[in-house]
This record gives sequence, C-alpha cells and structure tokens, in this order.
Amino acid sequence: MDFEYIADHVRRVRENVNDALVRSGREGAAVNVIAVTKSAPPEVLPALFQAGITNAAENRWQVAREKLAHPGAKQFTWHFIGSLQTNKVKYIVPRFDWIHSVDRLELAEALSREAAKTGRTLKVLLQVNIAREPQKQGFHEEDVRRAAELVAQLPHLELRGLMTMAPKVAHSEEARPVFRALDELLRQVREEMQLPAFDQLSMGMSDDYPVAVEEGATMIRVGRQLVGSADATQGGQNR
Ligand SMILES: *Cc1c(COP(=O)(O)O)cnc(C)c1O
Repeated sequence: MDFEYIADHVRRVRENVNDALVRSGREGAAVNVIAVTKSAPPEVLPALFQAGITNAAENRWQVAREKLAHPGAKQFTWHFIGSLQTNKVKYIVPRFDWIHSVDRLELAEALSREAAKTGRTLKVLLQVNIAREPQKQGFHEEDVRRAAELVAQLPHLELRGLMTMAPKVAHSEEARPVFRALDELLRQVREEMQLPAFDQLSMGMSDDYPVAVEEGATMIRVGRQLVGSADATQGGQNR
C-alpha cells in the first residue's frame, strides 16, 4: 500500500494548527498532534513517523494489539483514548504511556495497581462529558474536582489534565463552548489544587481541531484527516 499522501496530510494539519494558534494569539504554543491510527493498517506507522509524527493513539485493545506488534510502533509514544474495561488494564498498562480516558475512580485505581506491578508511572487525563451526552463516557463537570483529588493521590499515576469529545455538530464553531468550558475547568482545578503539572488539554478531532486549538488544546487527536483516504479528510477545512 502506498502512504505517500500521509506527508501531505500531516503538513496540512500542522498548517491548520499554526493558523489557529495565530488567530487566537497562542503563537508558539506547543500542540501535540496525535495520530489516531484505529482505522488504518499497521503499515501506516512508518509513513507517519517519516512525516514527523511521534505520538499515536488507539481506542480499543483488540485493534491496538496489531499496531503495537509492528516494528515501527516502538518509535511512538502511545496514547489510549477509548473506553477501557477494568479487565483490559493489564494489556494496556505495559504498552501505553498516556491514558486519556479515565472516566471512573475504579479504573484509575486499577491502572495505578497495574502500573505498580511493572514499576511504571502512567500519565493520565480525566475524561469529562462536558455536554452531558448520555451515550458518552466521562465525569460530569461537577465531579471533576473530587476525582482529581483522589486520582492525584494514586502512587503510580501522574495526573496531567483533562480530555473531552465534543458532540457531533453541523459546524465546528458550535463545539467552541465545550472546548472553552474544558479549558476553564482545567485552569480552575490547577489553581485550586496547586497542581502545576495539571496542564494538558486533550481536545479536538478531525472535524473540530482548529476550534479546539483556538480554545487552548495542547493535544489534538486526529484520525481521518491524517490517515484517512483523500475523500474522508474534509473535516477541519470546511468550517
Ligand atoms: C476516533 C477517535 C478520534 C479521532 O477521530 P477522527 O474524527 O477520525 O479524527 C479522536 N478521539 C477519540 C476518543 C476517538 O475515538
């Protein structure tokens, strides 16, 4: 398979990110472009790496395991972004560096226990269901402070910030209040808890990442616009 288009996709996403930073007065801010590889074959990994991408994400263990078995997988920092059953934690912990989808305390405790066995520390984000969509995982906004206090005390987890998925909307502009609310929540919790390293905002996907970057995203999770075929990559362009 031919992955020459990947370099173009990466370039375009980075341009869109830079434009969004400039528009919002965040010039020079670091935005980690994480490639969501769930819908692509493992052979996409070397092409992404050659194009300068060093962070990759998966949302299901069954799909992740074949990516991780590819020799090119070792060059990436891996992020787990999907809903995670407690009985899968033992597979995820040794292979992923970041977990974006901590959506309940029981999961945080299981992650910390498993990380202890391998002597590691995992970087974690609390997933927040800002829009309170019934079909989505995540803490409700009012439960985040309490969760942050408890997770921050777990010995093998490093609590680094918040993650959200915006609702599907016709125009990405409509997702702006969700991103703004997550940024506000991050600042408040960081200040109240005096946790300087609570500084990561994982928000923005193919359809809405320019708006997320304008509102303070430090990590965007981009699938279709990076690894999708040409007709699946319209997203952030036609706002
Ligand atoms: C699939 C997925 C993404 C990427 O979605 P695209 O629309 O393909 O960019 C981002 N975040 C999560 C949690 C996902 O499951």
